[in-house]
Amino acid sequence: MKLSVTKISTFKDCPRKFWYAYNMRILTPKSEGFYFGSAVHEGLEYYYLGKDPMQGVDKSLFGKKANISEEAKEGVDPYKLRKEAKRIFSIYPQQAPYLKPLLVEHIFNVPLIHPETKETLPVVFTGKMDLITEDAKIVDHKTASGSPGSFFEVKNNLQASGYTYAYLRMFGKLPKCFLFNTIIKGNTRREPRFEPNFTKKTIEDCCNFFDICKEVYGALKRKETKDYTNYYHCRFCRFHDICPYDRR
Ligand code: SF4
Repeated sequence: MKLSVTKISTFKDCPRKFWYAYNMRILTPKSEGFYFGSAVHEGLEYYYLGKDPMQGVDKSLFGKKANISEEAKEGVDPYKLRKEAKRIFSIYPQQAPYLKPLLVEHIFNVPLIHPETKETLPVVFTGKMDLITEDAKIVDHKTASGSPGSFFEVKNNLQASGYTYAYLRMFGKLPKCFLFNTIIKGNTRREPRFEPNFTKKTIEDCCNFFDICKEVYGALKRKETKDYTNYYHCRFCRFHDICPYDRR
């Protein structure tokens, strides 16, 4: 079995949502926010590889799509999003934190071993780190239209712990810190801005992350997905149109 932060987080949101996404493999197009986020993300990948970021943005907005999950919902205007991305990248090099890349878009596959007890799960933990810097920071790019809210903070915490765990497995030591490189979109009155948010995870956080993986692995093994729901999440769920348990 393979687990990623997205899979774990989807299961924690609602087990039935996990079933729709990973068992039924139902794909849905991206909202404007996610479509824009992917384009900026691709631009940042190009930027840290020393290439023109707008080439990455254009590839993401106008390039060939592998499936519907890479497309935008009806009504999203890619030309408007391109303009917004251009505003960001015209000031990014001067205003964003200086980061010296060691690895860009690094895919990892690491075994799940408890850092202290050495208990091992028959699971591979997989994911992609946006950036690892030469001075041992893990960087994750986020786009937002305002300051990140508490709903996303829970997910961000899980990601920071999980990626710190993966870094520990890869390099045999903890990273210096985990940096959310948050890019806040501009509007008619204000310029885009950049908010670096640092967090530092410990070995205890890595142990807790292992415990969460163990809990999710156990539930998946017992097939506790399709008929297990979490109504608190319905408001944010992309499957609410087809789910008979929707309680928005
Ligand atoms: S609509 Fe609600 S109950 Fe149904 S899958 Fe989504 S979160 Fe779960």
